[in-house]
Amino acid sequence: MKKLVGFIGWRGMVGSVLLDRMQKNNDFKNINPIFFTTSQVGEKTPVMIDCTTSFLEDAYNIDHLKELDIIVSCQGAEYTSIIYHKLRKLGWNGYWIDASSELRLKNDSIIVLDPVNLDSIHKALNQDIKTFVGGNCTVSLMLMALGGLFKRNVIEWVTVSTYQAVSGGGAKYMLEMLQQMGYIYNSISLRNKILNKGILEIEKLARDAMKNNFFPKKYFTVPLTGSLIPWIDSSMKNGQSKEEWKGAIETNKILNSKNYIPIDGTCVRIASLRCHSQSFFIKLNDNIPIKKIESWISSHNPWVKFIKNTEKDTVKNLTPFAVTGTLNIPIGRLRKLNIGKNYISAFSVGDQLLWGAAEPLRRMLNILIS
Ligand code: NAP
Repeated sequence: MKKLVGFIGWRGMVGSVLLDRMQKNNDFKNINPIFFTTSQVGEKTPVMIDCTTSFLEDAYNIDHLKELDIIVSCQGAEYTSIIYHKLRKLGWNGYWIDASSELRLKNDSIIVLDPVNLDSIHKALNQDIKTFVGGNCTVSLMLMALGGLFKRNVIEWVTVSTYQAVSGGGAKYMLEMLQQMGYIYNSISLRNKILNKGILEIEKLARDAMKNNFFPKKYFTVPLTGSLIPWIDSSMKNGQSKEEWKGAIETNKILNSKNYIPIDGTCVRIASLRCHSQSFFIKLNDNIPIKKIESWISSHNPWVKFIKNTEKDTVKNLTPFAVTGTLNIPIGRLRKLNIGKNYISAFSVGDQLLWGAAEPLRRMLNILIS
């Protein structure tokens, strides 16, 4: 009999990408899906999918959730923190697959990224572990890009600067950034023939628009378009943002590291629509020839793509625009740093809604079903 699988948070950024990937891969034919909502109970289910019920169910109805074999939640940490524990307390013994950070560090959960830790996933299944969580987006993308080096234990430490897309904050943030773009453009172009103005005058009109009380910034609180925000998520006591803190803790959990690998850096929200980019500075534990590093990186998984360190290749292949909507993980700008022979830099881009969120969940669901 097909498993009864509940989808919660399917309307959001991650959930929408998950559904899209599942449809394209014909995954729904193997399950009985039920769609839930926190805000639209009774509305129609996604039209393109053949569902057990044709209306959206209440995502807070514990009695209904209890009947499910598998729950896939892309709703967020707040929802998981309320519902997951209630269900487990009632003795629900189904599989919970989650996109949020809420359960990632629990002892009885596994952070899933099967091209990197399929062994740990199989081991967990044999131990009857029932909670499988997608990793932080930049962590998963970093491991997909640098997996070949982590696997060979040649990394002593990593510092990373991230350039994270607005969709990483969720649907509302992406919509707000587009509104910000429109507001700036309209403020200039409606009142003026934009091309006839001097460039400083145009820049001032844009800046004035960003300062206007009506400038859309309900979620960001400040302009992101035309600017950036070097803080993502809440504050930790040690001065890191929570996004920065997740880097080391989650990476070491996924790798099941015997020796803890220090990873730290600054996470920055930029006005890119989709895809997170990361600039790495890495200390290796040996003076490894760059060609060898290149071949270890390229051979780790089918999605990592090595990009030659030239202007032409970089500009064409190593941008969010080039990567959006694909599973490719390009990594380039690889070179030895002038600091010393054991130090390298690299730059990578990945679609944070695919390998950084939805794809590991989709693949985990398929592992369970098969
Ligand atoms: P999101 O886009 O904000 O969606 C979450 C929920 O918000 C939706 O399921 C929907 O719930 C509701 N919602 C309210 N207004 C909406 C609108 N205009 N359009 C669509 N949905 C709207 O959140 P998300 O980015 O998918 O993130 C979900 C979880 O995944 C979070 O825990 C996040 O930290 C994690 N995550 C996100 C990313 C990423 O790149 N975004 C990457 C990795 C992990 P109802 O239908 O019930 O109203």
